[in-house]
Amino acid sequence: MEYRSYNLKSFVKHPLVADHLSAQEIEEIRVVAQVFPFKVNNYVIEELIDWENYRNDPIFRLTFPHREMLSEEDFQRVQRALNDPEELKRVVEEIRLKLNPHPAGQLQNIPEINGERLEGSQHKYRETILFFPKQGQTCHAYCTFCFRWPQFVGMEELKFASKEVQLLIDYVKAHPEITDLLFTGGDPLIMSTRLLRAYIEPLLDAAIPHLKNIRIGTKTLGFWPYRFLTDRDADDLLQLFREIREAGYHLAFMAHFNHYRELRTEAVREAVKRIRETGAIIRTQSPVLHHINDDPDIWATMWREQVALDMIPYYMFLARDTGAQHYFGVPLARAWEIYRGAISQVSGLARTARGPSMSATPGKVAIVGVSEIGGEKVFVLNMLQAKRPELVDRPFFAKYDPEALWLDDLQPAFSDKFIFE
Ligand SMILES: *Cc1c(COP(=O)(O)O)cnc(C)c1O
Ligand code: SF4
Repeated sequence: MEYRSYNLKSFVKHPLVADHLSAQEIEEIRVVAQVFPFKVNNYVIEELIDWENYRNDPIFRLTFPHREMLSEEDFQRVQRALNDPEELKRVVEEIRLKLNPHPAGQLQNIPEINGERLEGSQHKYRETILFFPKQGQTCHAYCTFCFRWPQFVGMEELKFASKEVQLLIDYVKAHPEITDLLFTGGDPLIMSTRLLRAYIEPLLDAAIPHLKNIRIGTKTLGFWPYRFLTDRDADDLLQLFREIREAGYHLAFMAHFNHYRELRTEAVREAVKRIRETGAIIRTQSPVLHHINDDPDIWATMWREQVALDMIPYYMFLARDTGAQHYFGVPLARAWEIYRGAISQVSGLARTARGPSMSATPGKVAIVGVSEIGGEKVFVLNMLQAKRPELVDRPFFAKYDPEALWLDDLQPAFSDKFIFE
């Protein structure tokens, strides 16, 4: 399949879109997409979205902006400004700034070596360094809930983007505690294989003894499985995966799937098979999202089907406190019910998924459950990852709050502060 991409200007040109969306819906998308990024492609439109029932279709919700993603007031302000470019720019900028564009101290944890900052990296957890290749800072389509939305609308000039792999190699060499290197984005598999090779080959040549695992965080299986099938350099990409394996690394393909519907096309199944044949292990992760997957049966089905397809469920996240969190956010208490409802109906092979977890400033905080201790209803929390490794796996408590969406909404219980404070 030939890749065709659609944006705010061109989406109505796709016949399936034009045939189904009403003039009002198109107008609403036009308004909301002034604030949030919007991009979709022919695979998502033609093979994933069920146009007979698109209004409640999870993939439609996942990729097409919705009116309710903005407050009614902001929606109307943008709508009124549509024909006045200066005013529109001002209104959009103001709304974006209200939507917490920099959650979880993402611009912290930038490593340094020999007095130089590795702008394209983040080293938050001892064992794992994140690397953001400059040309991988976009995606095959955009998720409406994406926490990287500010960089796709140009609010952040790719502060993570990396120009040099050599600095990264020097840094990893100087840090024997690093075992994992995670390529992330955007989506690094938006890059041509030639470019990806330019990042990976020097790393393999450097043969850093303590570096054991190479991970690639990607949504390409969900949004463009033809990357592994019919793209011109698909075979070369799989060959690169083999070379990583042959050089002795564990290759972890961290696949982002939000709904079991993304697992059911022939293209995705064939792509998974081809990736697995290279020796790469596919692990899966997703946030739990209102309107898309806030139902234990969806998760149980998704995990079961992933295991059957030879993938390993890895993380369930909570939607970050940015962008349209009021629209996608699921309260912590409800997220735990969804997790429990899902995990309790699958076999142990699918219980490898951990969460629901918040990637917050101090670390990844999981909701272990809701309990009652000495007559007080509490959340039991646990850090799956922490900036300070000594805090990992030491359960702690917060006062129960059925509305809380994020760590900032919680108060410590039985103590005047949380363990990470
Ligand atoms: C999630 C995450 C990682 C990887 O953590 P694992 O638990 O090893 O998968 C690394 N760095 C950051 C900043 C993360 O959020
Ligand atoms: S694939 Fe990931 S980075 Fe890309 S739009 Fe979706 S959530 Fe954002």
